[in-house]
Amino acid sequence: MQNRILLGMLAAAWCAAAAAAPHAAQHWSYQGNESPAHWGGLSEAYALCRSGKNQSPVDLAKALHSSVDTVAFGYLPQRYEVENNGHTVEAKPQGREQTLAIGGKQFVLKQFHFHTPSEHTFKGRHFPMEAHFVHQTADGELAVVAVMFEEGRANPALAPLLADKLKPGQSADLAQALDIMPLFPANRAHFRLNGSLTTPPCSEGVYWVVMETPVSAAKAQIAAMHDIIGYANNRPLQPLNARVVVEEAE
Ligand SMILES: [Zn+2]
Repeated sequence: MQNRILLGMLAAAWCAAAAAAPHAAQHWSYQGNESPAHWGGLSEAYALCRSGKNQSPVDLAKALHSSVDTVAFGYLPQRYEVENNGHTVEAKPQGREQTLAIGGKQFVLKQFHFHTPSEHTFKGRHFPMEAHFVHQTADGELAVVAVMFEEGRANPALAPLLADKLKPGQSADLAQALDIMPLFPANRAHFRLNGSLTTPPCSEGVYWVVMETPVSAAKAQIAAMHDIIGYANNRPLQPLNARVVVEEAE
């Protein structure tokens, strides 16, 4: 499959803009002086990365059981633009809205992206990869659905995302519509908690849905995603503080 690669200079332009304008997004990374431990001090806009009390990711262990908040996926095969933004590989739906209902509330998929290894852990255990599906309501409420990956069979929905081996700043329009449902487990049981974005500005008030059942990806697919991203892009675990995790049955 030949995707159309756009040789954008997104990452470079973004860093230059940050240097030129103090109110533009401050550069951050996963390494050195701009690594997660420093995010809160890089910019006033990132203060929550240090001072927030409802930060993500967290370890998921003890949870209260519930069975009220079902998740209903309304995703259809769709065209996506895939970008290596220097922090992750991110796919944005083009055209028709992709929707998700959580407890009856409608969210629209804005983008999905990957972390290698996983950011959340289950009883202290990392998975080799985690996908985040970032959604928003019409009034700006954020919900992120997280899915863990384990090594096994190749995942057909990952293949087109990996095909172009995008370099930082490059993006590509997928040549064909992509069905992303293979990126979700059939079993809808999940952990639910309030948290934050796991990258600056670490905004809180994010509704997290972490699927309990991992999906499979070939070892080579996980390695390819890690190679494209270029380094481990998982924020360290954050304290749960006063939050309660709810475990929703299927
Ligand atoms: Zn993420």
